[in-house]
Amino acid sequence: MTPLRLRQWLGGATTPLRQWLGGAGGRLVVRIAGAAALAWLIVLPLADGTSDSTLFTFTLMFTSVAVAVNWNLTGGFTGYVDFGHAVWFGIGAYVTAILMSLQSNGLGIGWPPIPAILLGMVASGALAGLIGRFTMHLKGPYFSISMLGTFVAMREITRTWGGLTGGGVGLTLPPYLNRQLFYYLELALVVGLIGLTWWLRRTRFGAALVAIREDELGAQMRGIATTRLKVAVFSFAGASTGLFGGLWAYQNTFVDPDIAFVETRTIDAIMGTLLGGLGTVLGPVVGSVGLYWLREVLWTNLLDYHLVAQGVLLILIVLFLPKGIVGIFYARAMSLRKLWRWGASESVSQAESEPRSEGDSARQSRPVEPGQHRVAPFEERTRIVEANSIVKRFGGLTAVDGVDIEVFSGEMVGLIGPNGSGKTTLFDCLSRVHGLDNGSIRLGATDITRLSPYQVARLGMARTFQVIRVYRDLTVRENMELSVQWGEIGVRGLFQRADPATRARAEQLMEFLMLAPMADEPAGTLSGGQRRLLEIGMALMSNPSLVLLDEATSGINPTLVENIKDRLVSINAEQGVSFLMVEHNVQFVADLCERVVVLDSGRKLAEGSPREVMEEPAVIEAYFGAAGRQSPSEDGAGAGEGENP
Ligand code: ADP
Ligand code: MG
Repeated sequence: MTPLRLRQWLGGATTPLRQWLGGAGGRLVVRIAGAAALAWLIVLPLADGTSDSTLFTFTLMFTSVAVAVNWNLTGGFTGYVDFGHAVWFGIGAYVTAILMSLQSNGLGIGWPPIPAILLGMVASGALAGLIGRFTMHLKGPYFSISMLGTFVAMREITRTWGGLTGGGVGLTLPPYLNRQLFYYLELALVVGLIGLTWWLRRTRFGAALVAIREDELGAQMRGIATTRLKVAVFSFAGASTGLFGGLWAYQNTFVDPDIAFVETRTIDAIMGTLLGGLGTVLGPVVGSVGLYWLREVLWTNLLDYHLVAQGVLLILIVLFLPKGIVGIFYARAMSLRKLWRWGASESVSQAESEPRSEGDSARQSRPVEPGQHRVAPFEERTRIVEANSIVKRFGGLTAVDGVDIEVFSGEMVGLIGPNGSGKTTLFDCLSRVHGLDNGSIRLGATDITRLSPYQVARLGMARTFQVIRVYRDLTVRENMELSVQWGEIGVRGLFQRADPATRARAEQLMEFLMLAPMADEPAGTLSGGQRRLLEIGMALMSNPSLVLLDEATSGINPTLVENIKDRLVSINAEQGVSFLMVEHNVQFVADLCERVVVLDSGRKLAEGSPREVMEEPAVIEAYFGAAGRQSPSEDGAGAGEGENP
């Protein structure tokens, strides 16, 4: 096997064996191996030859597994790569040490271990929440570096604040009770922690964390309060690592800044997670156990060279195990490449592949009669969205320049204009991605001018995107089930899986959008057209009153476009959902919309019925004059090409 072939095999080529291991077989193997390992770990301390130092070695291993599992919650699931995670370990250790040694320092009465360790846990969790609140606004490497800075700063504070922490000399704790007790305690805690992450990953909360990793802004625009969730998980991971820090301090009976705050604890957590499989439940467990024993072996046999050996190992992981050990079996493990792609927003090429199942339906493409959709008589209509004098500038460029736009209930409105006329920017203003330079927006009865994107989504405005945003690592079904109306979920719903009603609705919509055959495939494997359909489905999952469609048909073949048209009409007719659609396909707009707004250079150029608008000389000049010899109908189906998001 050549290195390349080996790499491909390890990296995710699919074979029947691999598929079996990725599904039912894998679960069986994990259960059997897990039960055997646990049984062995339970009887180990009872065996005759087991010394206290062996038990201590094992508790250290449990600790490094726990730290890696915690690191993976933010680094793997949420995609926030923390270079300073060991800081929470040090804080847990120090709070415990300070409280337990108060007496020997002459500062008061020494605390018993359990409350001291628990307070250490609470303190690191609270501090993680506080610091995360600020640092988690940063993206990619900036977050990583800021956490490294936090780590170094905390160590130096500990060193300097001698009166409380003993400074560089450190603190000595009262002797611990019993190694066996610790062994079992830490075993129970680490097994509990693994179980907790396993459960968490299956709740909406866990899926939302992955959504944050995949596309944070998209998650916000679908109603997920991303800041709250990521800070919460960061704080939980900090508390949990702080707990293990406190336990370690008690057992070690001594702390000083250099052994409580150690960079290698973070590095080990990262390496262990990478080795095992980033963003998976078992990856950090398998990886850090492996790394721990590898280290023990390397240490004893290669003393002087163990760091070199470790470096070589890391390079080998990068080259040959992009998805870690777990990734060999589990196709959905995250590839290491993602880590290096930090912060880079991925753009999906507009000219992307044609849909896979394009011709699959026996449906005849039938033109939709204008006005066929349900439109309430004028008096009955209510205003859903009303935006006044919207101005948005990018530096010297005024992308949207004083636009008024409104959409009534049950209405389908087209928004057209040449490339760069500000259509997408106007959508971004409405869904609150951009702050406004002037103007105000009302959604229903609420002034949303200053709300966050997730709040707007919760009020019933959903959208799709010119540059497709789906959560590529999640399956189509998960994408759908995650795009519920988050305003209705509440804290309890956050820790549950999708309810039967949601699942049924997702199933129905996937059927309706012809996505059902792909329901359990990662959204990243869909064609461009299918992803556009998925986006429409995700928008509809939240029961919106208004959907903004940004070039929902671009790059989709004409047959499928007809299908989308039919579906939009029936959704509009049956559920009364209003649509505001940006379209290059003028025929599409003319068929669906009774009212069209034309933008040019950020200004509203015209408004009226499709026919009226198309006959206005200014529109012909701006829209078609600029585009050369194009006629409206030619501009339609081929809109994908030459399109610059
Ligand atoms: P449309 O969707 O009508 O094709 P856009 O709203 O994407 O147009 O763009 C309007 C103008 O604003 C373009 O000139 C574009 O280059 C500019 N623009 C859009 N987004 C940004 C941004 N984030 N930063 C700077 N300029 C932008
Ligand atoms: Mg656009």
